[in-house]
Amino acid sequence: MSRVYNFSAGPAVLPEEVLREAAEEMLDYKGTGMSVMEMSHRSKAFEEIIETAEADLRELMNIPDNYKVLFLQGGASLQFAMIPMNLMKNKVADYIVTGQWAKKAYQEACKYGKVNKIASSEDRTFSYIPDCSDLPISEDADYVYICENNTIYGTKFKTLPNTKGKTLVADVSSCFLSEPVDVSKYGILYGGVQKNIGPAGVVIVIIREDLITEDVLPGTPTMMQYKVHADAGSLYNTPPAYGIYICGKVFQWLKKRGGLAAMKEYNEKKAAILYDYLDQSKLFKGTVEKKDRSLMNVPFVTGDKELDDKFVKAAKAAGLENLKGHRTVGGMRASIYNAMPIEGVEKLVEFMKKFEEENL
Ligand SMILES: *Cc1c(COP(=O)(O)O)cnc(C)c1O
Repeated sequence: MSRVYNFSAGPAVLPEEVLREAAEEMLDYKGTGMSVMEMSHRSKAFEEIIETAEADLRELMNIPDNYKVLFLQGGASLQFAMIPMNLMKNKVADYIVTGQWAKKAYQEACKYGKVNKIASSEDRTFSYIPDCSDLPISEDADYVYICENNTIYGTKFKTLPNTKGKTLVADVSSCFLSEPVDVSKYGILYGGVQKNIGPAGVVIVIIREDLITEDVLPGTPTMMQYKVHADAGSLYNTPPAYGIYICGKVFQWLKKRGGLAAMKEYNEKKAAILYDYLDQSKLFKGTVEKKDRSLMNVPFVTGDKELDDKFVKAAKAAGLENLKGHRTVGGMRASIYNAMPIEGVEKLVEFMKKFEEENL
């Protein structure tokens, strides 16, 4: 067996320890004689899995009691519709568009009401986060929406926007559990887990209880009502059971590593290795404004498309995989999520230095 350093933006690297544990439990989960994949979601064993996962997540993120944790399906993309359908009581919402995912969320919301794009960084290919300290928040906005870490462009909100008292909704898919957060500042924070937590197929929604109501837009499908899932403890229908089990293992792994403050320190250290090198390289350049740099997704270019391609190919041959940038941006992108060990980033920078010497 040989494992590569996987810099994929998602689905992405998972902790090896978690994968080993899952492998050990594959055929017989704790004496049940079956795999978690094969067991009823109403069984005692699974009940314990989902309850422990939620309790561990609450502990890790210090989630206040007046927030529900939902384990849902449909990817982060289904939330683009679910959020307006459940929250748009006045049929007005404000969106800050800092990348493709925010733009998609904005476009989807436009189907359901009056949606204002109150800020955008599209003018410079989403390479920065606009000043959000004094935006024209709509008087009757039901919520203000952001994508907190822009997976494709590698930017991150270092301070949350001033919503002037309106509910903040955030897509945190690619920065979930990468550092401590103050959950009480959000109405909803949600993310697909395939970036920084677990296998594709699970979306975690953390939602303040007062936002969970029966007063949803007419025609909202049962499966798209937060209240239905909240009332059923995420077991209204069959949940993505195996995915939740793996998420639970990752939560335990994070607790063992010292929680989110320790992860933040580790992630800062990892990202600095790469950014420090980029800042002095004569061949490679980071594409993002320094103050807005993400700790999780690091895009960079040589400025020469052929050389970029050559780099990606050579890196792959050296066991450094999935470094090709998003198809809309080109160049390279290294996603260095929680589960990417510091050795992986060191190996990458070592390889970049060698490539720079040979190609400059
Ligand atoms: C990947 C990603 C999405 C889309 O996730 P799906 O689960 O594929 O729908 C949305 N937002 C962000 C920030 C992402 O990184």
